[in-house]
Amino acid sequence: MNKFKRRDFIKLMGISTASVATPSILKAATGSNVAPRVVVVGSGFAGSTVAKYLRLWSGNMIDVTVVDPKSSHVSCVMSNLVVNGKLNMSDITFDHSLLSDKYGVKFIKSTVIEIYSGLGGKTVSLADGSTLTCDFVVLAPGIAFDNVTGWDQNIAPHAWIAGPQTELLRDQLIDIKAGETFVMTVPKAPYRCPPGPYERACVVADIMKRKGGGKVVVLDMNSKIIVEEHMFSTAFSGIYGDIVEYIPNVEVDSVNGLTINTSKGSFSADVLNVIPTHKAGKIISQLGYATVAGRWADVDPISYELRNEAGVFVIGDSSGTNQPKSGHMANSQAKVCADSIIRMIANQPIDDLERLSNLTTNSACYSPITYETATWLTAGFFYDQNEKKMKAVKASLGQAEKHSVDHYKDMFSWSQNLFENTFM
Ligand SMILES: Cc1cc2nc3c(=O)[nH]c(=O)nc-3n(C[C@H](O)[C@H](O)[C@H](O)COP(=O)(O)OP(=O)(O)OC[C@H]3O[C@@H](n4cnc5c(N)ncnc54)[C@H](O)[C@@H]3O)c2cc1C
Repeated sequence: MNKFKRRDFIKLMGISTASVATPSILKAATGSNVAPRVVVVGSGFAGSTVAKYLRLWSGNMIDVTVVDPKSSHVSCVMSNLVVNGKLNMSDITFDHSLLSDKYGVKFIKSTVIEIYSGLGGKTVSLADGSTLTCDFVVLAPGIAFDNVTGWDQNIAPHAWIAGPQTELLRDQLIDIKAGETFVMTVPKAPYRCPPGPYERACVVADIMKRKGGGKVVVLDMNSKIIVEEHMFSTAFSGIYGDIVEYIPNVEVDSVNGLTINTSKGSFSADVLNVIPTHKAGKIISQLGYATVAGRWADVDPISYELRNEAGVFVIGDSSGTNQPKSGHMANSQAKVCADSIIRMIANQPIDDLERLSNLTTNSACYSPITYETATWLTAGFFYDQNEKKMKAVKASLGQAEKHSVDHYKDMFSWSQNLFENTFM
């Protein structure tokens, strides 16, 4: 534990692969005045990062258009601090103008519904009936949820895609009274932010404790707490021992208003937080790309290009690698992808020994445990050239030994760093 010092991964931000294709090489390689075009689907952690670095590392030689139905991105990272009233929505909201003004990234407010590959490149169809043509498509659509019979997210919010759902859960928790019951589900792994649901349980238990007591029932679809087990089980049985009831191996049958029916019985709540099992963003299944366990996109991690569709890349939570689904990881994968696309345009190899030997990604998650303390978890990954996949660097697997005020302060430096590196 704690082998990797927390300040080390704060410094790691921005390092993965750095492009070697200089703007002059790019110009010579393309040999024309028409800029190569990339369409990015989604403006979250993965999409915004790839758009920014495609512009930055190519010396603005690549035309980059991002499509997203939202005009600003609300970050899930730090959103549990909106849920407990520490932050405002404006603290976790990033307007697209930050990337368009500084880097010339173009944004279109719409939803991508189809992609066609032809001899002349790719055609991307939007919900408003218009089309975009380009040379490469990067899909970064985040997640979608499995259906849960009877579930109404306006009554029992997930608050797992940040935005109005976060505000709804926050408002319900403002109204919850001492002695009342909060019930939540933990989705089956893999899901976004491995410690996130256990962090949510602690944040709500802290709210109940400060209100004078109550109950937090955690219905875990996994057989045990999947990360930071010691940290969270100690919190559940220690500081929150009179509040949290943790139940593993739960299968969810249905939801009826504020009652959830499961393999371990029915639970009625005053506030119900249903976080269903995840799959890749809807467009990935629509296009037939969800081939890893029928849920995630099958990509080659040296570029994040789909294994069965040249010129189409999938990064962030939608990709099906053995790396954690996190904003920090999405940022890291996006840089590997941007570097690959620039090299492809410059007719440079992406699989030379030097590049593959230096191919790394990393992830970090901070979790508030109380109103003033937090914990953290990190992992670094390298490309194993024999197994042709990303593997965890054992020495980089680290987690805090205990939650503390210092870690809580570091959480703000780390998240600010990630936000600036991604959205600004
Ligand atoms: C409570 C909570 C806490 C978290 N804490 C951490 C943490 O401490 N550290 C960490 O690293 N990560 C954390 N995460 C995880 C992190 O938020 C996600 O892993 C990250 O958002 C994934 O980025 P993404 O770009 O893949 O998806 P997203 O950020 O969700 O972005 C997807 C975007 O795609 C758009 N989109 C979808 N479909 C289409 C379409 N067809 N056309 C156009 N646009 C489309 C969506 O509108 C959205 O803007 C946390 C998550 C939660 C819920």
